[in-house]
Amino acid sequence: METTKIIIAGPRGRMGSEAVKLVERTEHFELVAVIDHKHGGKRLNEVEGVSTLPVPVFANINDCLSEIKADVLIDLTTPEVGMHHTKTALEFGVRPVVGTTGFTNENLAELEELCQQKETGCIIAPNFALGAVLMMKFSQMAGRYFQDVEIIELHHDKKLDAPSGTAVKTAEMIAEVRQEKSQGHPDEKETLPGARGADFSGMHIHSVRLPGLIAHQQVMFGAEGQTLTIRHDSFDRFSFMSGVKLAVDTVMNLNTLVYGLENIIE
Ligand code: NAP
Repeated sequence: METTKIIIAGPRGRMGSEAVKLVERTEHFELVAVIDHKHGGKRLNEVEGVSTLPVPVFANINDCLSEIKADVLIDLTTPEVGMHHTKTALEFGVRPVVGTTGFTNENLAELEELCQQKETGCIIAPNFALGAVLMMKFSQMAGRYFQDVEIIELHHDKKLDAPSGTAVKTAEMIAEVRQEKSQGHPDEKETLPGARGADFSGMHIHSVRLPGLIAHQQVMFGAEGQTLTIRHDSFDRFSFMSGVKLAVDTVMNLNTLVYGLENIIE
């Protein structure tokens, strides 16, 4: 297999540091640079606790891509930075694999167009855990038969966006097959604002943030006399890395935007 040259943005982060380890232990992956706004000009082995690899660290993506030849950019940063990185990578003909969540529909539409223009592949996956992707698929199957559904997503309290990208993606997938319905009592009133969560096509999404959690989601369906609960738990960020690896390998053969890992697994 040919070596894939990879740049990681956000290498000190909880996800980014796992991605550095993934690239290090994968024979046909090569880490060629990282993007870290606080350590530009250093080598990665001079940044405490990340890696012993002496690859260059760049504070910004333009400098990095002007100097370094790479195949793939893995972005695990924050929504605004991630959007800027993804656009710039596409401009340079580098394929982005984006785990950063919080991209808007407008962001996705803009990136889709850019991929088409540049004929360059890009994968954006709100959740790289295989179990989470199956949870979304099973929820979509159930959504055909159950109109009433509430999504409860639970994450650590350092998460910046709410609801989670996975919850929104799950709601979108269910909405594709579910007969639209505004749930709950037509006269229900929130005596505390937000009590019923966010509304997505009449479905409700609830976001729990607590230290100790990593990434969890429960999709609850209800009908007369029965409920069905589909739940996935990521207990370790390692759970996301097989999906990152699959996305990097797959993006090398793409020339369009793919949103969601479910579109690249059988
Ligand atoms: P995190 O620990 O806060 O890491 C984010 C990293 O991005 C930090 O190291 C941060 O540096 C860095 N950063 C911020 N601005 C930057 C810039 N301009 N250039 C380079 N790096 C910059 O967060 P995380 O838990 O790893 O999550 C990262 C993203 O992945 C989030 O959007 C999260 O929702 C998402 N996520 C996705 C999945 C998935 O399966 N797709 C799973 C879990 C999380 P500082 O520390 O200096 O600010």
